[in-house]
Amino acid sequence: MENIYNKMIDFAKQNIAPYTDKVDEDAKFPIDSFEAIKKEKITGLVVPKEYGGMGLGLEEHTQTVLAFASSCATTGLCYMMHNVATMCIVAFGSDEMKNDYLPKIANGELLLALAFSETGTGTHFYNPEISVTKKDNSLLMNGRKSFVTSALYADFYLVLTGSFDAEGLDNWIIKKDLSGVSFEETAWNGLGMRGNASMPMLFNNVSVDVENRVGPAGSGAQQVFTVVAPFFVIGLSAVYTGVALNACNTIIEYSQARKYSDESALCTIPTVQNHIADIFTNATSAKHFTLAAAKSGACGDADALAQIIAARLNASNMAVEVCSKAMKIGGGTAYAKRIIIERLLRDAYAAQVMAPSTDVLSIWLGKALTNQPIP
Ligand SMILES: Cc1cc2nc3c(=O)[nH]c(=O)nc-3n(C[C@H](O)[C@H](O)[C@H](O)COP(=O)(O)OP(=O)(O)OC[C@H]3O[C@@H](n4cnc5c(N)ncnc54)[C@H](O)[C@@H]3O)c2cc1C
Repeated sequence: MENIYNKMIDFAKQNIAPYTDKVDEDAKFPIDSFEAIKKEKITGLVVPKEYGGMGLGLEEHTQTVLAFASSCATTGLCYMMHNVATMCIVAFGSDEMKNDYLPKIANGELLLALAFSETGTGTHFYNPEISVTKKDNSLLMNGRKSFVTSALYADFYLVLTGSFDAEGLDNWIIKKDLSGVSFEETAWNGLGMRGNASMPMLFNNVSVDVENRVGPAGSGAQQVFTVVAPFFVIGLSAVYTGVALNACNTIIEYSQARKYSDESALCTIPTVQNHIADIFTNATSAKHFTLAAAKSGACGDADALAQIIAARLNASNMAVEVCSKAMKIGGGTAYAKRIIIERLLRDAYAAQVMAPSTDVLSIWLGKALTNQPIP
């Protein structure tokens, strides 16, 4: 395992884990964790060194998200999305855009988020209906994005729209407090991932400058499939692997600590030992598959995207399976929420519906493996 993973595990234990329970309980964005992430300038993980960042890539992104999510799935998810948005600028931004944003991201001054999904297209977020139209000399953005994680807390949002002057899509970087931008501040009340602050974002005649378009006209879909797809899909794989590892470690510890009147521990029961063996095998498979797929992506292997999708499907299933089995071992104590397994199970369920959902991704994988175009 690379050093960055161990370093980030330590960082997460000290700076993320202390807030996790409260983040879930109050359904509040993990502000304190992000203050520490910004202070340590981990916001600049994927920013090239020439812009003051750490100059790291897909593998280190995966390891860092995994380390953070092993302490708090919400923090891992929000951080992962920041890196995905940053990568769009790194890979597609003009020199001027890179000079404007990347040094500040590297310096911990800016947090980014993704405003891609819409109610009209749901899990198929790569088919946005939101529009930018040209009126006289101005460009106006109108429409609504449905689930924006880190809403109100991120400084800038990448917004996918139909292009006003080309075939295809455009990706825009939009400031939180630009005139006409607002958020439906209904508290996020998800089953899990409760600190996400995911809420709808509205654009009402928002005047945008063409300088805020990331990459050339109509390059949005290319960004989605060459940058967003690998970083986002492996990022989700890392988040839900973190959930599975957390559940595995938690239940192993609990099974040794829980004692009956005769002083025997729960872990001495053979059925419990079988369950623990399954849990460890599943959580570890998610970890190794995710890290190997990230390595494959970083090396540019021909089947890297297939591996990344398969790793994400596997991690999503493993997280739910591991947490369900851990609930069984945890008995009434787990059900009564006296240990954190129920929270992890709630978090794990998000894996299957986050776009592209596991149902959609498994179709993509079948297509990729039989040389058919995706989506
Ligand atoms: C915790 C969380 C955080 C999120 N954060 C963000 C964010 O930061 N930015 C953002 O842009 N979006 C975000 N989303 C939105 C997410 O990515 C999806 O767009 C959203 O969950 C889709 O929900 P829906 O109800 O519209 O799904 P629907 O599109 O209605 O789908 C419902 C079900 O049908 C299945 N389905 C639909 N079409 C097909 C098909 N063709 N083949 C097979 N199965 C299909 C889906 O898999 C799903 O299980 C977030 C969602 C969650 C849960």
